[in-house]
Amino acid sequence: MQYDHILIRYGEIGIKGKNKKKFIIRLQENIQHKLKAFENVKVKRTQGRMFVLLNGHDPMPIIDKCKDVFGISSLSLAIKVKNEIEAIKEAALFALENSTNCSTFKVSVKRINKQFPMRSQEMNHILGGYLLKKTNNYRVDVHQPDIEVKVEIREEATYVTSNIIKGLGGLPVGTGGKTLLLLSGGIDSPVAGYLAMKRGVQLEMIHFHSPPFTSERAKQKVIDLTSQLTSFGKSIKIHMVPFTKLQQEIVRVIPSEYTMTIMRRIMLRISEQICQKENILSMTTGENLGQVASQTMESMHAINEVSNYPILRPLITMDKTDIIAVAKQINTYGISIRPYEDCCTIFVPKAPKTNPKREKVNYFESRADFTDLIIETVDQIETITISDQQAYDTSMDDLF
Ligand code: ATP
Ligand code: MG
Repeated sequence: MQYDHILIRYGEIGIKGKNKKKFIIRLQENIQHKLKAFENVKVKRTQGRMFVLLNGHDPMPIIDKCKDVFGISSLSLAIKVKNEIEAIKEAALFALENSTNCSTFKVSVKRINKQFPMRSQEMNHILGGYLLKKTNNYRVDVHQPDIEVKVEIREEATYVTSNIIKGLGGLPVGTGGKTLLLLSGGIDSPVAGYLAMKRGVQLEMIHFHSPPFTSERAKQKVIDLTSQLTSFGKSIKIHMVPFTKLQQEIVRVIPSEYTMTIMRRIMLRISEQICQKENILSMTTGENLGQVASQTMESMHAINEVSNYPILRPLITMDKTDIIAVAKQINTYGISIRPYEDCCTIFVPKAPKTNPKREKVNYFESRADFTDLIIETVDQIETITISDQQAYDTSMDDLF
């Protein structure tokens, strides 16, 4: 006997009323996409359940892939057997003996198929008794068992599962529209992108770089970060904005303590143009309240003025240690800490204004004209698509 199915549970999307079907179909597509390298592996939907049919494959690498799919609340290995008592007993024994770290168990039978001759309670006793008789090292604990051998008797067959493996939760990517992530090479913005994806949002990236002041390797960092994030969705586009001329002009005409604020405002204006062109309805940043000069309340007030697009800031109230913990968990941390310069760090003054005023910013901007340079810059944006085939190999981190 062997496990032949993986049972997929999708907690949160189970409650989405009218949209439910759309969410479930998207989840199925996303899992299928994720498992496309495994020949013969199928993802099936039946009422209120989703299964991966293993067709002889080792379940472990498949479970690992499913653990990166948003919308799955938990997974269990399952065995499908005929609705026959002997077959169900065998499967329950297999499930118990193949569970790890367990000395107590409980059997829970759900009889959905009312044609099945024995009631759930009766089945609980029969199976519990059988398992105790066939094994020596397990006890029954109905209140706090180490594992629950679950038996679901359905119309078409009976499914037996045991260990529950936690999934990522969230909503399937693609059900929440698209956002333009302002991706730097730092620790925060990739985590912000990950959290937006967790709410079902698809990403497109925009990155501002300043060659030759920023190197090819800094650009590669952004490609690798994006590549890493594709493992939670599909391919992702990056818009690389050559920002050198604009930054030099800003530094030339704006008083130094205001250059950072104005640079950010121009970043937002360019980002908004990309949103319009790509039909994207929001932007996302890795901003975090109070972390640095650009992220005070006054600063956000002054910067935000130039766009009325919604700006998602998933990290806004998080502690840095928690952000770093997520960055490590999603394997972006190692890439983010590679020591290459970001365009902002190069041009940012030593003492940027932490409480810039809108009136002053507008006054300084009115004395300069960035229009032509913005047009020229937007014209020179390089757009590349990072496919999820190229998922970044973190073992390479040591080379940097
Ligand atoms: P991060 O770790 O994401 O760089 P940070 O804490 O260093 O964030 P800032 O450098 O002030 O903060 O940047 C705030 C946000 O502005 C970033 O999270 C990112 O969304 C955006 N941003 C900064 N630099 C760039 C860049 N070169 N290209 C695109 N977006 C950027
Ligand atoms: Mg940064």
